[in-house]
Amino acid sequence: MTPLVLAIERTELAQLFCPERRLETVGILAGMGILSCAIFAQTGLPLEFLLFPGLLLAIFRLGASGSAISIFLLTAPAAYLTSRGRGPLAYGQSTPLLHRIFFLQCFVGVALVIVYSVSSALRGRERLENELAEAFFEADAYAAQDYITGLANRRTFDSQLKQEWNRMLREHGTLSMLMIDVDHFKLYNDFYGHMAGDECLRKIGSILARVQRRGGDFVARFGGEKFAVLLPRAYSQGAMALAERIRQSVSDACLQHSPYQAGIVTISVGVGTLQAEESKDEKLLIERADQALYIAKRAGRNQVAVWTDGVGDRT
Ligand code: GH3
Ligand code: MG
Repeated sequence: MTPLVLAIERTELAQLFCPERRLETVGILAGMGILSCAIFAQTGLPLEFLLFPGLLLAIFRLGASGSAISIFLLTAPAAYLTSRGRGPLAYGQSTPLLHRIFFLQCFVGVALVIVYSVSSALRGRERLENELAEAFFEADAYAAQDYITGLANRRTFDSQLKQEWNRMLREHGTLSMLMIDVDHFKLYNDFYGHMAGDECLRKIGSILARVQRRGGDFVARFGGEKFAVLLPRAYSQGAMALAERIRQSVSDACLQHSPYQAGIVTISVGVGTLQAEESKDEKLLIERADQALYIAKRAGRNQVAVWTDGVGDRT
């Protein structure tokens, strides 16, 4: 009984008897007990091999703990009946009790070896599967993130845009977007070096992530020194207010930018808004925000511009 008791794990046991699996567990265990009773109650036919398919079913469906219990349920009636001279391992009443018990122990020993070797192989495979799933999950999370800023990357932004666009189509809603670009960033890189440029992008990314927004708003690094914010169910006025808050926050951070006349790092923001309609494409929203950004740049940078019917308004 010691190896059986050692094989039983409390958590596995609890899972076996949870409401969803209880019926299957009880069915298999009861089946093993009944099969063992039927085989060991009769004498004459060597039917003990019939227990092995049942054991394999217990290993695959109930794991090590369940199969340990099923061996116990198999052994209890088998020991009682064999000691009484019944069953295929008693070899008739004339066989001494010690011999009958020895044959039964050999049989149970073989059953245990089968159960432990198959269930340890199964556990190994299960562990590998879990490790693989974890690695896949991690890789997937990294693939969705921008390495420098830790924000969502362009790929994630595009799929989020598609998802929100489809949602807005169903709701007949409006989607807004901010296209944010760091002003004179080439100058910054040339003056402070590329590594300092990366650090600057990281700081801007964390400012963007911290600015107070609505729950559904989505911030991403769009590419290069461009960031994007997606604002579902937002009209241009609300989007402009957020754009201004973001611009002000970057400006308030006072990140030094000596070669630029402002002396600090500033951003320009383009605001695009689009009413979701089947005849339109969500890419149009990016185009509008980009056009508004171009207007903000042309007007002198460090400002917000909004796209309205092809004409940009500045703030
Ligand atoms: P503007 O105000 O018109 O936007 O001028 P700009 O200099 O910011 O724009 P431009 O397109 O001329 O230069 C963008 C620069 O951004 C050039 C490129 O080296 C730099 N850049 C893009 N991605 C990265 C990055 O990941 N790290 C660093 N350090 N620099 C980057
Ligand atoms: Mg720039």
